[in-house]
Amino acid sequence: MNETTADIASPWLASNKQDLINKYLQKILPHALLIHGSYGAGQLPLANWLGNSLLCENIEQTNQPCGQCKTCQLLKAQSHPDFVVIDNDDKTIGVDLVRKACQFLEKTAQLGRNKVVMISHCENMTESAANALLKTLEEPTNNSFLLLVCNDMEQLLPTIISRCSKVAITPPQGEQLAQVAVNKQAVHPFSTIAEIAELTDEDVYNDKRQLLQSLARFIHQFDNGVELIEQIQASVHGMRWLQFGFESMFRYHSGWQQALADNPLSETVDGLDAETVFACLNLTMQANRQLKTLTQANKTYTLEVLLVELEQTIRNAA
Ligand SMILES: [Zn+2]
Repeated sequence: MNETTADIASPWLASNKQDLINKYLQKILPHALLIHGSYGAGQLPLANWLGNSLLCENIEQTNQPCGQCKTCQLLKAQSHPDFVVIDNDDKTIGVDLVRKACQFLEKTAQLGRNKVVMISHCENMTESAANALLKTLEEPTNNSFLLLVCNDMEQLLPTIISRCSKVAITPPQGEQLAQVAVNKQAVHPFSTIAEIAELTDEDVYNDKRQLLQSLARFIHQFDNGVELIEQIQASVHGMRWLQFGFESMFRYHSGWQQALADNPLSETVDGLDAETVFACLNLTMQANRQLKTLTQANKTYTLEVLLVELEQTIRNAA
């Protein structure tokens, strides 16, 4: 598994962890959990952490994996007999693998506690693999837990989704992200339902890319403001993309390199420090709020003012 992702210490996972462990200790944790979020939001480390918690011998005292007991040691060595992980990276997950995992859950735990199956990228299950899982979802065996990890719920069969208890991972976004930044906590990438257009429509994706390219040029040379404003106004998503550009750079500065993967701003970001990026993000968010209430003529003016302010901010930092 080579997924670049948030780690288990990410602040927004704290409430998920607390909730899951409370339910487990109260013996009301559902046996099938669908842990989902956008790519890299932290669902995989959370599932690993939970699997480890369900097996740790001291969990009742420590409320998290103790790291010391025999079970925790075996998990570190990836040789725990009661923890099965299916992780095919980006390849499909076939019916044979899933059948084996289901059979495993029907046996008695070798170390006498729980049995855990974790399926990473579960949206990659073939239809027959998903169907093979349905029986286990409907008729759970004692002390068995199934942790489905998903980056894209749209690709999962509804019959699977409806039979699992959902655990949504929600990294901070937009205003919330700014608040996190103010609190000097780590920030990470996200995607929202609003991004579906650029994820599924190639034209929209290309428009976004071109806008980010223009933003990169603007940050370098400030000579394409007219073009940039046109691009922002040409799409209903324009302002969100501009904000996304600064947010991505801010996340990058917070230690999340992946935030700028496949992003035209990746060559620009090292020229701007985190404070400058954050100042630009704030200006963009303020303008975005104003734009929602303005007439067209005033919108163009507001964008012109925004670009002047961005240029001043960036020049002052250089
Ligand atoms: Zn332990």
